[in-house]
Amino acid sequence: MKALRRTVKIRGALMRPQDLQTICDKCDRSRAHVNHTECSKLRQTEAAERRARENI
Ligand SMILES: [Zn+2]
Repeated sequence: MKALRRTVKIRGALMRPQDLQTICDKCDRSRAHVNHTECSKLRQTEAAERRARENI
């Protein structure tokens, strides 16, 4: 449940820009060497949920 609170905070500004460049924020592996299709799906799902929550 504390993850939900954190998500709201992160959305404000902190998106770890440097990490996102090289390391996947979902599996913490190099984006250049691993297939992150699942990760991007996860990310999209989370984004959709986040938006749905805000629109309520
Ligand atoms: Zn990944």
